This record gives sequence, C-alpha cells and structure tokens, in this order.
Amino acid sequence: MSLRSWRNSLVLVAGLTLTVAAASSCSSKETPATGSGADSGAPASNQPPVSTLFSKSITSVTVEIDYAPGAEPYVGTVKDFGDPWSLFNTNVLAIFDGKKTISFPRTLAKMEKLDDVPAKNFSNQDILDVAAAHRTEPQYSDAVAFYIVFLDGYWLDESGTEQKKVLGVSIGDTGVIGMFKPAISVPALNPTPPTELIEKIALLHFFGHAIGFVDNGVPVGPANQAHIDTENPHHCTNPSCVMSFANESPAGAAKYIIAAGMKSFGPETAVFGQECLSDARLLETKQLGQ
Ligand SMILES: [Zn+2]
Ligand SMILES: [Zn+2]
Repeated sequence: MSLRSWRNSLVLVAGLTLTVAAASSCSSKETPATGSGADSGAPASNQPPVSTLFSKSITSVTVEIDYAPGAEPYVGTVKDFGDPWSLFNTNVLAIFDGKKTISFPRTLAKMEKLDDVPAKNFSNQDILDVAAAHRTEPQYSDAVAFYIVFLDGYWLDESGTEQKKVLGVSIGDTGVIGMFKPAISVPALNPTPPTELIEKIALLHFFGHAIGFVDNGVPVGPANQAHIDTENPHHCTNPSCVMSFANESPAGAAKYIIAAGMKSFGPETAVFGQECLSDARLLETKQLGQ
C-alpha cells in the first residue's frame, strides 16, 4: 500500500486509534522499560560521557551500522515519503542543532554484514558481545561514534524472557543499540504505516536514549520537569515526541506515525519534542561555559 492511500485509509479510524492509544498507555507496565538505564549491567566502555558528546570539542558524530543475515536495515526510498534515512539525518542533526557533522551509511554495501551472528534471541550481554567482536569505528578527540546492530531475533529482557513487542534496546552508556528486525518487520496494525518508517522511528527513539534522553545523561532543565515520565524512566511525557515510551513497541510506533502522518509526515518532520531539544540546548550551553 502506498503511503498516500495508507494515510487516506486511516483518516476515518483516527479517532478510534487515538482512543486505543490512550487506553493502552494505562497498561504500559506490561511492557518492561527497556530504556537505557544505568542499571543494565553493561560493562564499562570507552564511550565518552554525554557531557563530552555535547561539548564544542566534538565536531562530528559517526553512526556505525552492522546487520545479521536476514536482518538487513531497510534502505532506499518509500513511495510518497522519500528516503527514511533522511528522516534519521534530519533529526540527529536537530539533536545537535546542526552544529555537528553526522555520518552514517545509507546503503547495505556500506554497512557490515555479520555472517557469524545467527538468527536467535539476544540479551543485552549477547548484543555487547557482538559489539565487542565487530565494532570498528573508534572514538576520537573530536568525534564520537555509536554502534547499531540489526539482529534476526527478539530481545531477551533482564529476566531472560523473550519480548516480541520491543523494537530495540539502547544499552547503558555503551553507545550500543540493538534493533530487533522480526519485531520491526511484522506489521502491528492493519492498515499499517510502512514498516520502513517504524524502523526509523524506533531507531531515533533508541538513539535518543543513547545520546542521553530523557534525564539519562542529558539533564532535564528546570522548566522542562513535566516531560519526565515517572512511570517509565528515561521517557518523555509529550506524546508527539519520539521519546515517548509507546515508541518502544511496534503498535506504539505505528500509532505515532499515524498521528504524525496527518500533519504531512516526511523526511523533514521533527520527531523530538521541544522539551527534549530544550534539554539538549541547555546542556550544550552549559558545556560551552566550561
Ligand atoms: Zn525508550
Ligand atoms: Zn521529548
């Protein structure tokens, strides 16, 4: 289905969809907070702290992307939308107010295929093991790198339980993000937004955790306290912000796109809310003063 016809088919059910979304947020405890808490047991890494990331000395941000066979990231354009990687680029630039250079691969040829990573479920430690074996982009005094790996399996939470409705995970302060392709690629709603867009919304959500949102390294400004989600740590209460907790699940991310789609969702759409971006600007300003 093209994005346009998908949009049109959703207009009539929009009211219903929003009602369902509001109701499901009450039961959010059914889904564990994957977030990126400091309590994830992640070992120390050489990932620079968020305060360094936002400092003036860091002029570029590199995102390394690897994938397991069968879990290839979506590449190329989506009908009536454009290139979803442009959405990623637009919004990573927005985090840094356009002050840093952002680089990441947009073709599979420039991402690394990991032939030794099988189809299976992954715990945080399993993902860190993949990163230890395959992460190659180093940290520099003027550049910070993140590592994203697309996996052909679901997340195993801290209790070892398979979580089929979790799109990804950002692991502590390691700069490592795991993306769970089977959770991404199976449409959660009918009609559904293109899963290519769900993938990029999820990626932006978990990248948001990795760079320190919300109160996960980037402090929350005095005027922004209301956007702290007290039920789901490190999430944003603004439902139109990509850092809202719902975006960890396929249905939540799909509903997010539906809501945004009615305001002409495209590669230039800002998905981080004003509160999250304000926190980023406050940290940046603080770093300049030091
Ligand atoms: Zn999250
Ligand atoms: Zn936000």
